[in-house]
Amino acid sequence: MDSKSIRKKFLTFFESKSHKIVPSAPIVVQNDPTLMFTNAGMNQFKDYFLGNKVAESKRVSDTQKCLRVSGKHNDLEEVGIDTYHHTMFEMLGNWSFGDYFKQEAIDWAWELLTKEFKLPEDRFYATIFEGDGSENLDQDTEAKKIWMQYLPEDRVLNGNKKDNFWEMGDTGPCGPCSELHIDLRPQSEVDKVPGKDLVNQDHPQVVEVWNLVFIQYNRLSNGSLENLPEKHVDTGMGFERLAMAIQGKQSNYDTDVFQPLIQWVAKKAGVDYGNDEKTDIAIRVISDHIRAIAFTIADGQLPSNNKAGYVIRRILRRAVRYGYTFLNFKEPFLYQLLDILVDQFEGVFPELTSQKDFIAKVIREEELSFLRTLDNGLKKLDTITSGKAKIIEGSTAFELYDTYGFPLDLTALIARENGMEVDESGFQKEMEVQKNRSKSAGKQTTGDWIMVHEGDETVFVGYAETQATTKALRYREVKQKDKTQYQIVLESTPFYAESGGQVGDTGYLQFGEEKVEVIDTKKENDLIVHFVKKLPSSLESDVRAVVNESKRRLTENNHSATHLLHAALRHVLGDHVQQKGSLVNDKILRFDFSHFAKMADEEIAEVERIVNQKIRENIALDEKKNVPIDEAQRMGAMALFGEKYGDFVRVITFDSDYSVELCGGTHVPRTGNIGLFKIVSEGSSAAGVRRIEAVTSVAAEKYYQQKLELISELEEMLKHPKDLKKTIENLVKENLTNQKKIDEMNSQQAGQIKNQLKNEAKEVNGKKLILYKGEFPSADGMKQVAFDLKREVDNLVLLIAANIDGKPMLTVMLADELVKNGMNANEIIRKMASAIKGGGGGQPFYATAGGKDISGLDEALKLGKEMVEAS
Ligand code: ATP
Ligand code: MG
Repeated sequence: MDSKSIRKKFLTFFESKSHKIVPSAPIVVQNDPTLMFTNAGMNQFKDYFLGNKVAESKRVSDTQKCLRVSGKHNDLEEVGIDTYHHTMFEMLGNWSFGDYFKQEAIDWAWELLTKEFKLPEDRFYATIFEGDGSENLDQDTEAKKIWMQYLPEDRVLNGNKKDNFWEMGDTGPCGPCSELHIDLRPQSEVDKVPGKDLVNQDHPQVVEVWNLVFIQYNRLSNGSLENLPEKHVDTGMGFERLAMAIQGKQSNYDTDVFQPLIQWVAKKAGVDYGNDEKTDIAIRVISDHIRAIAFTIADGQLPSNNKAGYVIRRILRRAVRYGYTFLNFKEPFLYQLLDILVDQFEGVFPELTSQKDFIAKVIREEELSFLRTLDNGLKKLDTITSGKAKIIEGSTAFELYDTYGFPLDLTALIARENGMEVDESGFQKEMEVQKNRSKSAGKQTTGDWIMVHEGDETVFVGYAETQATTKALRYREVKQKDKTQYQIVLESTPFYAESGGQVGDTGYLQFGEEKVEVIDTKKENDLIVHFVKKLPSSLESDVRAVVNESKRRLTENNHSATHLLHAALRHVLGDHVQQKGSLVNDKILRFDFSHFAKMADEEIAEVERIVNQKIRENIALDEKKNVPIDEAQRMGAMALFGEKYGDFVRVITFDSDYSVELCGGTHVPRTGNIGLFKIVSEGSSAAGVRRIEAVTSVAAEKYYQQKLELISELEEMLKHPKDLKKTIENLVKENLTNQKKIDEMNSQQAGQIKNQLKNEAKEVNGKKLILYKGEFPSADGMKQVAFDLKREVDNLVLLIAANIDGKPMLTVMLADELVKNGMNANEIIRKMASAIKGGGGGQPFYATAGGKDISGLDEALKLGKEMVEAS
């Protein structure tokens, strides 16, 4: 069965068990301070388990794009070395939110694997939680009993807390889990060593395929467990591992999920896959990593220098480096794999197909720049290994790792080839330091929620209102370094929580007579959280929630203008323009979009013209809530990749022929409110991405005002000429002519000085020594004199200590023969410069220096002369 059919069968199976099939959430996580990337199918459903939100469907199933390269789940170092861990993989899952529990979950898992996929029953092992005394938890006998309907007792194995008690994080929903492992070894080996001895022993053919988690507890911040009001099922099965089992392979990479990639890379490298462990690993690393890279870029995360972007950059560099070292790929190659990937995920993950060119472009640029870095890193290693040292310092190895992407093993390998060793413990120390640095920077302790009033979901009333009377539902304390803040959740709120680029509202909450300032509003998953610096003395009373309205209105101007801008850009530049990021606050709007060239001035002007025209048309906002997603798409609304949309979406339209967008933000009632739109900058923000910054309404007015003031000041300065432009043009012309004259004069004067100096040359130890102290017209003139004299005087040693417009400047020029004999202008200039409190340098035959102390010119010359005489 090919992998596409396997994925499909999984989903139709659960559909037949009344599950709703939902799309994968983006691989890049937004609005969750604890997570950068989706690492399990359940991430997108966290709110249901936490009780922040009620699930619309109690049974759900999907295939989820996951990435395990950071945080609690980090498989990166295994990937490519082993054959069953990937960076990016698909997790097939089924969920029950307060609906079915262990019995159905186990029954269906068994039915699907053995009846539908017809995997051999006698090759399965199930693990169950053995219990844990310290937590006061018993063995999961319930799960054990159910498994024993299908498996003999000796194939239902006990597992400890580490393997069989699943937790989302340090706090939150958790519970015992039951894993299904499959033994894929040939029968001859099974006969020798029973599979049960290899379960959870990192054997590549005895692997976990499916984990069924029974969520029934909540872990509090003091470490204790409380029962959840409802019990849930959360399962996750590795799609690639399932394919390996069904297709009778020994490695995920031998399935049709990876083979096209593997074969392409092998062919390009001119090797056969399966012949040599070293090149095999490199081929696997590349075939794996390209998936992680492409999917994260498709979901809007570009490689960059920090956070999620840096993680992606490091994965990309790891792939390039393996290709470079083991497959001799010296030119960009990863981006060429995109065609194959797109083919494979056609009809499954459309975000790849529609952004293929953009993704390829971004990857290629990254590859190019890293290959340059890699070259530099190798050169750096070269100089180290060609020196006398026998040890590569830990700090150097770490720099190679951190800046150039050289893993320790590579540095060690190159070191060994050169008879050197790496100080590995020094390297580990540096690594530790960096880890601690980032840990303590982000260290935050979050208290448990404390309930004030009953209620689970916050109603957002901020589209229509900026004030509301409501109740506090719960609050908690958050400590970071020595700063303590509090977070409050309300029953209903007019405060917009930061999302879709629009900043969170500020304002205040009034409890009785007491006001607390809201400094920010953010989402945590879908929960709206108000950030305050202090708590009121009591949260029991009704709350008056009041948004800072003027700030909100200015922000809305910028948000609506962003929509008008987006549409204008597509109109002027073409349909390839897609939003790649946006920031909207009360001062400015920033819009990143895919486009490959710098915008011409005329294009920028045309975009501005269109947006301002739409503002003057005073188009009324058309806001439609709860539109089914496919209908919204029919209306022409563009979904953004990397955003998570539900079945029903909000559609914001300004003229149905002009701008239709899916958007949760707040907007002006009519475009006329925006007043005025002005682009203040256009530039590159990343490979293939341009960035526009613009201002609207009062800020735009102010922008023009400042430009006008500048013109007034210029007119004032030039005594109000009739034609300002002409006057300035004339001034520039005049200035040019004068400069030419000055240059000529300086050059003549320099010529005179040169002739004079040539006659003053004195013989010292076989050298022709020329010394000069005095005024010089210009630095250029001095240089000219030095080079002319070098040409005209054999064995020249020229020392100049000049006063150029009141500043001390030194020059040393030496004949080439003298340099060959060991003299060095750099050494002389350094000595001389000390007398004028300055510094400089240059080449062995010619060096210059500037300084601060003009009174030291005589001394400088004297020091230089002494050095020459001594040599
Ligand atoms: P393992 O012990 O093999 O690393 P896990 O315990 O980390 O697995 P879970 O967190 O339970 O796995 O994830 C559920 C399923 O997802 C696993 O049973 C496995 O099939 C799959 N899976 C987990 N990690 C990876 C990975 N890095 N690459 C591919 N599949 C994976
Ligand atoms: Mg794991």
